[in-house]
Amino acid sequence: MTRVQELFDLSGQVAVLTGVASGIGKASAHMLSDAGATIVGGDIDESGAQATADEITSGSGTAVVQRVDVTKRADVDALVDRAQTEFGRVDIMGNIAGIPHNKMVADCTDEEFERLLAINLKSVFYGCQAAIRHMIPQGSGNIVNISSGAIDTPAPTLACYGMTKAAVAMLTKTLATEVGRHGIRVNAIAPGMILTNFSRHNFTDADGNVVPEKLEQYHKRAGAMAPLGRAGEAEDVARSFLYLVSEAAAFVTGQIERPNGGVSMPW
Ligand code: NAP
Repeated sequence: MTRVQELFDLSGQVAVLTGVASGIGKASAHMLSDAGATIVGGDIDESGAQATADEITSGSGTAVVQRVDVTKRADVDALVDRAQTEFGRVDIMGNIAGIPHNKMVADCTDEEFERLLAINLKSVFYGCQAAIRHMIPQGSGNIVNISSGAIDTPAPTLACYGMTKAAVAMLTKTLATEVGRHGIRVNAIAPGMILTNFSRHNFTDADGNVVPEKLEQYHKRAGAMAPLGRAGEAEDVARSFLYLVSEAAAFVTGQIERPNGGVSMPW
């Protein structure tokens, strides 16, 4: 039997991640690096991405980053190709970058909808395509796409965002059926309420400053919704990420992992 520590050992693996400047992407970069993976990260926030890389390389990790606008196929291709050129492999692809959107269907503009589709959905499609181009000849790989708990709990103002994340879940399942025979697993994570910059609009004023009363309300609401009684941290999602790409999940593909404190419990 494989030793437990070995199940989570990613030494020698190369992980390409988007959204590494902040929140779930940053936490996942740290988690995978701690497990031994080399990180090739991208984000539209180049200095934030560089800060993540600096944190990793100031320890014993290896990380390189570059500016990536995930709405541009060429940017996504360049990121994934860099992993192959510089480190010789693409073992893990994490399509993480994304943006929130909270508007009633009646009020969502064409521009907002197109932007959401580009950042939250097309980017994941580009990332999956770029990754499997390397993973199929390699005969192995792990793809993790970030969906959302919004796919389980329809609620006012979440239609446009939820549509993109439901499509990410469907892409994940379908791709899993196409590439399993090549040794590639494809899974998604549907996080619940996670405290990151993404959720800041819930507890900041118009200038972006945190309003303590609103923050307290956010925690109360998250605590009331979740059987575990709290909002999630980015690291809660990074742990799910590590599990899915590890050998502990060797027989897991096409699944939606739900670090959500128990807010929803679909079959
Ligand atoms: P976050 O802290 O805001 O991180 C998202 C990162 O993606 C930011 O660094 C952001 O840069 C970057 N980004 C935005 N547009 C981009 C683009 N076009 N190209 C490249 N990078 C871009 O948010 P997070 O909570 O970690 O979100 C990560 C993922 O989790 C998203 O897909 C989100 O939908 C999903 N999610 C989050 C929650 C939650 O409650 N936090 C719940 C469910 C699902 P800027 O800051 O410069 O825009």
